[in-house]
Amino acid sequence: MKGRINLTGIKVMASHGVFSEEKASLHPFIADAELYIDELERGDDLAGTCDYGTAAEIIVRELSAPSVDLIETLASRAARGIAVTFGCDCSVTVHKPEAPLSVQFSDVSVTARARFTRVCLGLGSNMGDRKKYLDEAVECIRADEENKDVRVSSYMPSAPYGGVADGEFLNACLIMRTLKSPHELLDMCANLEGAAGRVRKEHWGNRTLDVDILFYGDEIIGEEKLTVPHIDMCNREFVLAPLCEIAPGYVHPVYKKTVKDLLAELKRRGR
Ligand code: ADP
Ligand code: MG
Repeated sequence: MKGRINLTGIKVMASHGVFSEEKASLHPFIADAELYIDELERGDDLAGTCDYGTAAEIIVRELSAPSVDLIETLASRAARGIAVTFGCDCSVTVHKPEAPLSVQFSDVSVTARARFTRVCLGLGSNMGDRKKYLDEAVECIRADEENKDVRVSSYMPSAPYGGVADGEFLNACLIMRTLKSPHELLDMCANLEGAAGRVRKEHWGNRTLDVDILFYGDEIIGEEKLTVPHIDMCNREFVLAPLCEIAPGYVHPVYKKTVKDLLAELKRRGR
């Protein structure tokens, strides 16, 4: 059963604020948190849920950290801290009832929501030790605490695509949940390619490592720098075949077809 843990009224005296007087004195900050749990009753066992004691400590830690200007920052940090610790969606509200306003008021608060999105990535390499490049990228992705439940397909060899590259490729796909926004995820992909020493000479050219975003939840993004779902994935068996191993039922948000059906169609077209 899905559910929610509610934690309210955690109070910390601290000196956050834009004005120097605020930074020089202590005033109250009060936080509430909501932790969204996919399975509430896993055997009446604390290990199977989110320990609200730990969640409360994370909030206190963030609210007690060196002074910042905005309660937005406090709420975002606390929400992120809880989300990466438990792997659950969460929202944190930070209240500042003694904010220095020139009018009478009872409270001001900000709510930050940390939400995981299911994403699929495609990886490919056709230079050097191709398996090592893929292994290292997967290892980095797993080591990043903003990514959870990373599942990787088998590595599949494929012929070069688009008439530019010459060496045979090794391709894989992975599915995971991530806290990253689409652009943060794209930056992660570029960093992985950079770490593999990729030199960008030409579109579709030889590469030590290529990491593409295939799906970001069911979002449709049409920017030059970022097109999601990946613009050419439905024409690429080296994408759909490994993807079908780990996410056959994922529905393409534009074509409204599953990965399994898209792969079957591509194979029919190819014949
Ligand atoms: P390809 O992966 O098609 O061979 P490149 O990796 O050389 O091409 O192209 C990378 C550029 O494509 C990046 O600079 C990036 O901004 C842009 N791009 C657009 N959509 C995506 C996506 N879904 N995933 C990765 N890169 C994308
Ligand atoms: Mg790419």
